Amino acid sequence: EQAENHAAPFTRYQPGQDESHLRELKLITDLHTAILNNGLHMNYQPKLDSRTGELVQVEALVRWVHPELGFISPEEFIFLAEQSGQIHDLTAHILQRVADDARQWHRRGVDAGVAINLSAMDLTWPALPRYIADTFRDWHHSMERITLEVTESALMDDPEEAMATLNRLRDLGVTLSVDDFGTGYSSLSQLRMLPVQELKIDKSFVLKLDSEPQDQLIVRSTIDMAHGLGLKVVAEGIENLKAWQLLQQWGCNLGQGFYLSRPVAAGALPETARALAARNQELTQPNPEYS
Ligand code: C2E
Ligand code: MG
Ligand code: MG
Ligand code: MG
Repeated sequence: EQAENHAAPFTRYQPGQDESHLRELKLITDLHTAILNNGLHMNYQPKLDSRTGELVQVEALVRWVHPELGFISPEEFIFLAEQSGQIHDLTAHILQRVADDARQWHRRGVDAGVAINLSAMDLTWPALPRYIADTFRDWHHSMERITLEVTESALMDDPEEAMATLNRLRDLGVTLSVDDFGTGYSSLSQLRMLPVQELKIDKSFVLKLDSEPQDQLIVRSTIDMAHGLGLKVVAEGIENLKAWQLLQQWGCNLGQGFYLSRPVAAGALPETARALAARNQELTQPNPEYS
């Protein structure tokens, strides 16, 4: 048994799961190759200022289309990267790609900051702050226009350990955001102890905001409390005009969702930025029902 553990430290054999076990092993091996050979690509999803409708930032979302197995969701392969000890290589690769892509779209006239997702295990990687500083050495904006999104549950895994890395990241001047807020078990009072500047309300509370009074209550009071604590608020998962108008009404600072824009390839950002600017009237008109 020890020998088997030694051969594959990242997987645990479970009877009757041969097939998914093999799939995982294959994905783990092929992910290694994909990181080395540019087999992954990045998509970027706009985040808009709720008052001006301006594109202020894009969130980097990693994509993997496996040569035989097709699209693999980032949730699946990021989990496998964590289990197999490849997460730091993957995060480093993504940071590099984002820095390169941002340089390109800046040259093409797009003025957007970036948001990058970190995995829970990245918070226990001592070299991360230095790696970010190196990768974004020639970043063309102030460092606060680089946002690092860390999920609420990652922060709560080991808040003390996370704190050390968060403080060092904060020293770089980047913005720290609590992703998927509302899905973990933390309270705003626990978050208050962390050096974060932004709170990102999980899409599960936003997707049906147009029709669910309970979600409306939760989102509205979360925005108020976060503002009371001096945090900016972002909502993800905005899929219709009414949700966007409610969030604007309640003073949510930034919005992201399919209604505003789907994630797009880096090369399509200039065109996406123009399309959003052309929709500015529609995206900033007050909601007559609520004003
Ligand atoms: P997340 O950071 O919460 O990212 C937001 C997810 O919501 C993205 O899914 C995005 O496509 C999706 N989304 C945005 N707007 C809407 C909407 O209006 N409706 C719906 N139904 N969905 C919307 P995606 O790209 O599949 O990413 C899923 C998760 O995978 C991310 O959640 C993040 O936790 C992780 N992930 C993605 N890229 C990276 C990465 O580069 N590094 C790390 N560590 N994790 C990543
Ligand atoms: Mg995110
Ligand atoms: Mg999120
Ligand atoms: Mg999410």
